[in-house]
Amino acid sequence: MFGQRQQTIEQTISGSGVGLHSGRHSKVSLSPAPVDNGIVFRRKVNSHVETCQASIRNLRSTELCTVLGSNGFQIQTTEHVLSALWGLGIDNAFIDIDSEEVPAMDGSAAPFAKLIRLAGILPQERPKTYLKIVEPIHIGDGNRGISILPALFPKITYTIDYDHELIQQQTYEHEWSTVDFEANIAHARTFAFSHEVEALWARGLGQGGSLDNTIVFSDTGIMNEEALRFPDECVRHKVLDLIGDLSLLGIHVIGHIVAKCSGHQLHTQLVQAILDNPEAWTLIGPPEKHVSELADLIGKDDIHAVPVPANAAF
Ligand SMILES: [Zn+2]
Repeated sequence: MFGQRQQTIEQTISGSGVGLHSGRHSKVSLSPAPVDNGIVFRRKVNSHVETCQASIRNLRSTELCTVLGSNGFQIQTTEHVLSALWGLGIDNAFIDIDSEEVPAMDGSAAPFAKLIRLAGILPQERPKTYLKIVEPIHIGDGNRGISILPALFPKITYTIDYDHELIQQQTYEHEWSTVDFEANIAHARTFAFSHEVEALWARGLGQGGSLDNTIVFSDTGIMNEEALRFPDECVRHKVLDLIGDLSLLGIHVIGHIVAKCSGHQLHTQLVQAILDNPEAWTLIGPPEKHVSELADLIGKDDIHAVPVPANAAF
């Protein structure tokens, strides 16, 4: 995925389904976008179009899912479609949606990844910019935490630990590539425990949740007819979520992320911590757009970027 040029998709493509939390049916369309656009959600209201950049500055909530909002409109459960786009190396795209929640599809990122492949991936005329970590950043405490460390290539090591015989401790190591993303990450579904599901319903959440879009663990097994897609499907889904949340940085990161019993809150706190610690990274690539945007985000204007070496391969 770490080609030198920015990428978008070749044509508009749509899918539809039910929102996991709202239970409402909605349609989502992915469309090409120009260079340096980033990923932008759009919703048409009467004669005008509301927009919301997929950016940490538009983060509204991380309870159960990653909620973004700006300009009077809010979108729930953004992380799986964002994961598909980011995991396939798409820098620029519009996501048009006719409701306030991205459809759950099958609970994974695979249906979105399939749509992107059907639309086609289009390299654009401008190079990508990368944010390279040069000093470690860590947040969290002894039991739960997330770190990013300097590394030559992007990598994620994720560990979860649940007191359930089908999960227990699982660790997955993802060396960032579109091949590993599509083969081993994109298909991993979201999961819940049967005792949690009723509590969610009582709060008006999870209204669209079903065994078609969520792995539900009972005390002794899983309630779904479909077996687990991977023995360690849960930790793979956490990697999927993390990739979606990382897209809120708006720029690809070169570093090794080590996450332990983490979730949307810590994922997005890491994104914010990266922005808050400009001494911990350097930019590689064409500086103009990203430098001004990042300087705006962190309230500093002394960010430097170095050009990408001609033969660089990430
Ligand atoms: Zn998820």
